[in-house]
Amino acid sequence: MMRYTGRSLFSKASHCVGAMLIFAALGSTPAAAESPERSAIIGGSVVDLDGGAPVHDAIVLIEGERITAIGAAGDIAVPQGAEVTDVNGAWLIPGLMNMHVHLGLKLPGKMAAELANETEGELTLRMAHSARLSLEAGVTTIRLPGDDRHGDIALKKAIERGQAHGPRIFSAGEALVITGGHGSEAGVEYADGPAQLIKAARREISAGASWVKILISGGIATDGGDISEALMTPGEINAVIDAAHRFGAKVAAHSGSPQATSIAVDAGVDSIEHGYFLDRPTLRKMKKAGTWLVPTIVVSQPATAPFFEKIGSPQWYLARRDSVGKEHWKALQMAIEEGLNIALGTDQLPHEPNDGTTATAREAQYYVEAGMTPLEALRAATIEPARMLGADDDIGSLEVGKYADIVAVPGDPTEDIKALREIVFVMKGGRVYRNDLAR
Ligand SMILES: [Zn+2]
Repeated sequence: MMRYTGRSLFSKASHCVGAMLIFAALGSTPAAAESPERSAIIGGSVVDLDGGAPVHDAIVLIEGERITAIGAAGDIAVPQGAEVTDVNGAWLIPGLMNMHVHLGLKLPGKMAAELANETEGELTLRMAHSARLSLEAGVTTIRLPGDDRHGDIALKKAIERGQAHGPRIFSAGEALVITGGHGSEAGVEYADGPAQLIKAARREISAGASWVKILISGGIATDGGDISEALMTPGEINAVIDAAHRFGAKVAAHSGSPQATSIAVDAGVDSIEHGYFLDRPTLRKMKKAGTWLVPTIVVSQPATAPFFEKIGSPQWYLARRDSVGKEHWKALQMAIEEGLNIALGTDQLPHEPNDGTTATAREAQYYVEAGMTPLEALRAATIEPARMLGADDDIGSLEVGKYADIVAVPGDPTEDIKALREIVFVMKGGRVYRNDLAR
């Protein structure tokens, strides 16, 4: 393992009026005012996500929240007065993205019991804490496919206003649950039929959701319906997707079932979550339609076993998890073989300890173990999610004009994805949130 002795050369950001005016002109959020006006990252190697040669001994210049120049040290001058961070031989990659996160995650067993009476305020503060830890773990963008009571929307706004610190958030608000289906409580009625589901989708969009999450098959975490059963009807699935798309919102479908997936793909769903059981014809259909797969493979594999022990998961839950592990792995391997669009997601907190690293890094490592090249896995954790979100003009790669969401790791992740296991520097929107190199 390499060790770094690099010192941070920068001083505290100054909040001058000039900087405020520039940020105002760019239409930035108040959070931008906390980024230094001008900064530079020197001494790193910038990874090329298109597979080209990296830029060694690079200089990355940042103004406010965005990257203004990237090049070799000989070609670019660091402007006077810029705050300089020397990453001392580390590798620079775009901020990681995790597309399946529930910041308010509450799973059956001891965890659910402890959180049973959690108030809205407590929930939102717990989510804010997790958001901060996610960011420090190198994850600068997350998609939240279903959190309770709109804590996610409140947090998204607070982060944009600079009142809380965390990744950029794309959220689905509350997931749309059908009576008796995944995520439901016994004896409680939820949204059923096209009309109620359309209303529920519009309610979430009007609350601030840019995605709509539907649960079209059974799942691991609740006893409602078999994981491989298509629980939502084609009429319901079509209605929700149509309603969401009319508002410009995208739709993520939790699915473990080939039948349910097939119906959703025909209806134009944007992403399939988990895909615990997927056969080759269904995967080919997804490939043809350009549907995204967000594997969350880490939840069904051995790396997460200690986590489920820690939260006191009940026996039925562990059995349900074990029952899908092998099929889930096969589906992922086939999806990689078929060349599907894959965006990284964990269904665990991005920073959750897993096998000596975080859930996010372990998920990427699983992708390589299942057949991706390290470069493909790195893309699945960066530019591919940005494409899925339709945000690749702003995030997902280190390019001039994009947000300065930058992470440093000790080695070249395109050679060995395990480099992601150790994050040593995190910048989001030009502001440094972690710098182990300065210690
Ligand atoms: Zn989930």
